[in-house]
Amino acid sequence: MPNSVPIAMTGPWYEDVTQELLNWFSANARDLPWRCHYTPYEIWVSEIMLQQTQMLRVVGYFRHFMSRFPTLQALAHANLEEVLSAWEGLGYYRRAKSLHETARLVMTQYGGVLPSDQEKLEALPGIGHYTAAAIAAIAFEQPTVGVDANVVRVLTRLFDYPEDVRSVTGKTCIERFARTLLPRGQARAFNQALMELGALICGRKPLCTDCPWQKRCLAHAHGSESQRPVQPSPAQRQLRSVTAGLIVDSQRRLVLCQRPNHGIWANLWALPEFTLQSNADPVAYFSTCFARQTGLSVRALHWHTELRHAYTKWQILLQARAYCLESVDLPKPFAWFAACDVAHVPVPSPHRTLLERFFDRKAGRN
Ligand code: SF4
Repeated sequence: MPNSVPIAMTGPWYEDVTQELLNWFSANARDLPWRCHYTPYEIWVSEIMLQQTQMLRVVGYFRHFMSRFPTLQALAHANLEEVLSAWEGLGYYRRAKSLHETARLVMTQYGGVLPSDQEKLEALPGIGHYTAAAIAAIAFEQPTVGVDANVVRVLTRLFDYPEDVRSVTGKTCIERFARTLLPRGQARAFNQALMELGALICGRKPLCTDCPWQKRCLAHAHGSESQRPVQPSPAQRQLRSVTAGLIVDSQRRLVLCQRPNHGIWANLWALPEFTLQSNADPVAYFSTCFARQTGLSVRALHWHTELRHAYTKWQILLQARAYCLESVDLPKPFAWFAACDVAHVPVPSPHRTLLERFFDRKAGRN
């Protein structure tokens, strides 16, 4: 398959593919509270809630939030504590702060009306490239497509796209596939239909027999569904070693470190970790780096474990060790958390696994 829209599949093929998708969506769309009125405010709030949170969890929170703040004006006039309280339990509180900040900005900059233009939306706090496209399409019928992981999966399979979708070429190509299928004047239905197909049918284990594209899908025809989308193979990934610390005090508290508001794991609370220089001893290196950042000395304990995880082109080897530290005040961005509170704090998934191992003492113990 070339890095462009297949030449043989012209005009009617695309129209038929799109129509089959829209027909399927109209018969199978889930009944969701933000699909009643399609107000820009409701679509915006739902898209922000759906970032990093599963659809079924979001429904109840969305209803509750709307009952507290039924309009953008009500949200803008609320104080931040009220907004955070309505968000409680949903996690990733940075999203609630951005919603509140954006509501106030929209009041002052746009007279209380969310802009329909994708670029203007993307310039607002908490709204990234995908979210701006999704709001522009679903709330305003702007001719654009929000390409998220669901959409990437569906389109790479439909076109049996064999390249790395994280490359610049891959991203450009997937966006081109999406725009080519986008029907005039139906961005709202099309965007939701693509996402819904990815969520309900074309998941990690695709249910091809229930799929409206079963007869057209090239990956299904070639038997390559499970290999799409193509990700860098472990062999192609570069290895990076990281030394992480589970630092505890005598009161069973644990040190976490808040990540910056950009880059990997933005705003989450992570274990302190440092990328290892080649051949460095993980324990000595961790102690030195932590002391350099905080002015505090930790003492290594016996417990340790290690974990591998992949991130974009990296294969990360996390070498974790327990340390103890006196109960002292910590400089930002470090903070103490009671062991019983750690479960309620947003923590990156590999670090969550380390924490579970540490508290369970079941795996990785020696
Ligand atoms: S036929 Fe299968 S692989 Fe192809 S789009 Fe449908 S569910 Fe996905």
